Amino acid sequence: MIVGDRKPLEEILDYIKDYKKIMLMGCGGCVTVCFSGGSKAAELLASQIKMARKQAGNEIEIIECTPTRQCEYEFLEEFAEQVKSVEAVLSIACGVGVQAMAVQFPEKHTVPGLNTKFMGYPVEHAVWEEKCAGCGDCVLEWTGGLCPISRCAKKLLNGPCGGSVDKVCEVNKDVECVWHTIYDRLKVLGKLENLTKVRKAKDWRTSTNAGQRRITFEEAML
Ligand code: SF4
Ligand code: SF4
Repeated sequence: MIVGDRKPLEEILDYIKDYKKIMLMGCGGCVTVCFSGGSKAAELLASQIKMARKQAGNEIEIIECTPTRQCEYEFLEEFAEQVKSVEAVLSIACGVGVQAMAVQFPEKHTVPGLNTKFMGYPVEHAVWEEKCAGCGDCVLEWTGGLCPISRCAKKLLNGPCGGSVDKVCEVNKDVECVWHTIYDRLKVLGKLENLTKVRKAKDWRTSTNAGQRRITFEEAML
């Protein structure tokens, strides 16, 4: 899922400082699951904003709503009238949701309330770890299902840098060296020969390096 973190309240207050009436829009998708952008998060943020603005002697009206998914126009249309009635929208969806609002309601200023971080997997309750960076040319087949793009600080494709100690990455002492884990996994799978092939430098044009990417499913168009 897409994982995001709420921006600091001070930053959000600055984005909306010129407005007296806003819509605070959550999203019922990924950000609800990771607690940062669902209806409960919207309710909490709305009360924090109102309290801060009241204390500053500059009260604000907030309409709260949480579409099923903010990243799809089908779920946004029903809020058109409400969007018209406010000066700006504060979105606590991921960056896709914010941009969906900007496309759907171009005359309205939509500002982000989250910092969208990564595609992650829950490793325990309320803890997610990055697992995929959407590089566009997946290598998991020969790495034993472990991603060296999102999980190795140097994004190495031909084995470890040599700096790890006791399975811990030399760049960040809080994370495992994924290349150590790839070795262990391939050993279990009986596929250590995967590590003897020299991999060519990755073509990063399949990632974000060549600008915006687009996917078309021809079958769905029939
Ligand atoms: S290799 Fe690329 S597509 Fe595959 S998991 Fe890693 S970042 Fe994602
Ligand atoms: S120690 Fe391991 S995970 Fe960290 S940068 Fe080196 S190879 Fe990558």
